[in-house]
Amino acid sequence: MSAETYNQRMYDLGSEPSVIRELFAYGMTRKAEIGADKVFDFSIGNPSVPAPQQVKDTLVKLLEEDPTALHGYSPAAGFPSTRQVVADHIRRNFGLPATADGVYLTAGAAGALAIVLAAVSYPGDEVIVVAPYFPEYKTFIENAGCTVVEVLADPETFALDVDAIEQAINDKTRAIIINSPNNPVGSVYSKENLEDLAAMLTRKEEELGRPLYIISDEPYRNITYGVEVPYIPLIYPDTIVCYSYSKALSLPGERIGYIYVSDLMENSHEVSLAVAGAGRSLGYVCAPVIFQRMLESCIDLPSDVEAYATNRKLLTEGLKALGYEYVEPQGAFYLWVKALEDDAKAFSERAKSYELLLVPSDSFGAPGWVRVSYCVGRDVIENSMPAFKALKESYDA
Ligand code: PLP
Repeated sequence: MSAETYNQRMYDLGSEPSVIRELFAYGMTRKAEIGADKVFDFSIGNPSVPAPQQVKDTLVKLLEEDPTALHGYSPAAGFPSTRQVVADHIRRNFGLPATADGVYLTAGAAGALAIVLAAVSYPGDEVIVVAPYFPEYKTFIENAGCTVVEVLADPETFALDVDAIEQAINDKTRAIIINSPNNPVGSVYSKENLEDLAAMLTRKEEELGRPLYIISDEPYRNITYGVEVPYIPLIYPDTIVCYSYSKALSLPGERIGYIYVSDLMENSHEVSLAVAGAGRSLGYVCAPVIFQRMLESCIDLPSDVEAYATNRKLLTEGLKALGYEYVEPQGAFYLWVKALEDDAKAFSERAKSYELLLVPSDSFGAPGWVRVSYCVGRDVIENSMPAFKALKESYDA
């Protein structure tokens, strides 16, 4: 078939699976070959904690309702009642005067990001991402016709390097994506760090005479280990939040999340309408209705972080004792571990020979590290330690 019969960029995206998914697929094959308990699969961020019982009970009750109404369309932005429940939740939790007008229900954070990028940018604009970053940002940004501008996080602390971000801003810059708690590093940006960013962006907005948006990608907001995650709309008014219940309530396959355009933004109403237009143009209307309804009674459920906290402790203590270097995670469920050679791909390949599946850092926009997803059974971590030991010794020899 000739390239004229399809879009080459889409073909390339479809035929090049992400490094994470490739490793995950390899893990499935390998488990079938040698037994699931012999493969230590740290590749993917699929929550290992079950969704709360209240979610199940709510769904069972909903299924008793009249099916034509239950499975029918909602308005494009979501049920007014669900949008109101989300706005009330934001008011209660962050003290921000949120209204339903700013809320748009989406198919997870991925859907939210794709919509927001299309809503605020023009083709040819630039969008800043802080490396290391979630690889799909590139896909969403480029799909909006924009260019990805990578700015490295501080190499020591992995905080935002506000000076470096300032250097990257020019008259084409439209937005910056902030992800805290961060995938893949597990860092949480402090209030001071975000205030510095906000002050710099405000200055730049005045220079440019137009908004520079923060797109705050927050699927891990509720998965933290004793730290507060500052709410960015309270720090910087030109913020659009992309939230998701994939990790918070362990519902990644159900595709439910929301966009919140801050009510503190000067042109929030217009941006909310642009969000509605982008959702419409992308075909992302009417997020899964049963899960919108579920949210109405489950929105205040806490995330169950206990298992992740235990895993984090076991993994970090185990790897520290073996002499690995890593970034102490404050949130999410990923450990960012220094590769034992410069080439992270080669390190990940060698790890495979010890049945350890570790994602090399290159696709996150940073060389020399691997990401270890610890949203796995506790036994996977415990049983993997001899393999980590042997891997380390293979470099020490
Ligand atoms: N953003 C980040 C940083 C993620 O890690 C993920 C998923 O792993 C997403 C967005 C997409 O999540 P969702 O399932 O809500 O689309």
